[in-house]
Amino acid sequence: MSLPEEMHQCQTMNCGYIYDPDRGDRKGKIKKGIQFGDLPEGWKCPVCGATVKAFRPLAGPGSAHEENAKPPAETGAKNVEEGAEAGMEKYTCDICGFEYNPVEGDEAAGIAPGTAFDDLPDDYECPVCGAGKEEFSVS
Ligand SMILES: [Zn+2]
Ligand SMILES: [Zn+2]
Repeated sequence: MSLPEEMHQCQTMNCGYIYDPDRGDRKGKIKKGIQFGDLPEGWKCPVCGATVKAFRPLAGPGSAHEENAKPPAETGAKNVEEGAEAGMEKYTCDICGFEYNPVEGDEAAGIAPGTAFDDLPDDYECPVCGAGKEEFSVS
């Protein structure tokens, strides 16, 4: 088992593939023991095809968790004021069925957990099919 710092997770929505250096990537012909930083240029997520830029370590500097640890103080307080009950419904993309869950936010798009659908930027797009907010309806 690798350390969390050594494992990198694909941040693409609905992917979540984790590269574990202890296991390598058979599909990409990566031998066991190859660290994430030593992957050949051009290596891509075997699940969704994202480049290494879409990956973050599970722990340590640059990890998704570290980034999430900071913003809640700001955005969280605002959302509490506006009422945690109203506006926290899940929204579903009418085109592809992707569901936006305000409790989780949209990490790949930089949306902090706890962001209500109404508080999303106007140019927010469905991470799966690219549809605009107007294509979403309450789940
Ligand atoms: Zn992926
Ligand atoms: Zn969609």
